[in-house]
This record gives sequence, structure tokens and C-alpha cells, in this order.
Amino acid sequence: MSVSQYFSGFFFGNICLGCGRSNEKLDPWLCPNCREELCCMGRDFLMPHPDVVCLYPMVSLTRHLVHALKYNSMPGLGRYLVQHSSVGQGGEALQCLREWGASKVFLPVPLHSARLRERGYNQAEKIANALALRMSGRVGACLERQTFRISQTTLSAKEREMNVAGAFRVRKKMGNFLSSSLPIVVDDVYTTGATTNACLYALSTAGIPNGKVCTLIYEQPTSAALDYVADSQTEWN
Ligand SMILES: [Zn+2]
Repeated sequence: MSVSQYFSGFFFGNICLGCGRSNEKLDPWLCPNCREELCCMGRDFLMPHPDVVCLYPMVSLTRHLVHALKYNSMPGLGRYLVQHSSVGQGGEALQCLREWGASKVFLPVPLHSARLRERGYNQAEKIANALALRMSGRVGACLERQTFRISQTTLSAKEREMNVAGAFRVRKKMGNFLSSSLPIVVDDVYTTGATTNACLYALSTAGIPNGKVCTLIYEQPTSAALDYVADSQTEWN
């Protein structure tokens, strides 16, 4: 038993994050069955848009893992999920990202500063670090949030899109850093694309129009109600 497994069992009672059952063979987050399910799922990927790669669908297993990554102080899950994805396994997603361009810089969607203080880390940065490590790319803290936005949860889908459109900007003096590389905006969940589109918009207004997007999860907005719920669970503030 590794040290990480010991402490995982100590704090979480050897409970698998996927199925919630006790298991002595956690790795340290998933039991062998859930890990196998994740690896199988990770062999495919999704492209809701030609410029957007999402590594997993939103299903029960991935929902639990992303929730733990964001809210249970488990930053290592970012790397773990990338490692078990098509990118980590050397599959078609890796090939797709390679075909986008040789020199890549991964840009995590920035968290609101209050959320960052509360959480202690930005989950998008953990994902970006893992992608950059796998692809010999760089990570750039090139995006920043504009100061004031209206709360998303009270707005319609169209209003949310307009509200978030100007939510980000490229940091000063980062334009040259980005101009020589392909920027790939990184986030945990892609639903409507409003957040990552706002990042691409910020890049384009800084003279960098060729940005792409990579997220861990794609969650299909199947109805206005589900879209609202999904967006409310995402990092809007
Ligand atoms: Zn399990």
C-alpha cells in the first residue's frame, strides 16, 4: 500500500469516488472496476465544435470525479483524468491536438480571486499543467477576469452569453508570448461554450484569432432547464 493510498483510506475510508463502495484496491481514488470504466470511456473523445476537444462525456463517474476535483481539495484528479483520457493514452484526441499546431500554450480559464482563495487552486490550471506535460507544451496565465459581472444564475441563456462575453481579457504584455504559439483555452466542463467563447473573444480582441479549446468534460445542454442547472454548477462567478 502506498502512502497516498494509506492516507486516502484514513480520510475517506477506502471509499471509491466513482461507485461510492468500500474497496481495498483504490488507486487511490477509484476501485479497479471504475478505473477500467474510466479508461474505456477515455479512449474516445468529443468535438462539439471543430475547435473544441472534450476528453470525456458527463456521466455519473466523471461527474463525481470533476466534483471532487473542484470541491473536495483533490487537485491531483486533474492530472489523473488527463492521464486516463485519450490524450494520456496516446489516442485520437492526442493526435487531434497535435494536428492543431506544433507549438502550443495552454491557457487555464482563470477563477474568480475569491473562489481561488477559498479553493486554494484553480482546477483548470491543474488540467492545463497535465496537458502541457503530456504534449510538451507550455502553460500561460495569460487570461484574467474583468472585475464585475452580473450573477449568471438569474439570466436567460442569451443573457448569460452576453453577460459573460466580456468577462475576460488578455493580460498586458502577454500578446507577444501568445503570438508565437497556438493558444488552447482549458476548462473543466464545456456545456454551452459561453465561458470558453468569452476567452476566445478576449484572445481575438488582443489580435490572436486562432484559439482552440480543450476541456475534460462535455455536458450536452439538452433542454433549457438542464442547461440552466448545468451552468449553475459551473464556475460562473
Ligand atoms: Zn468504484
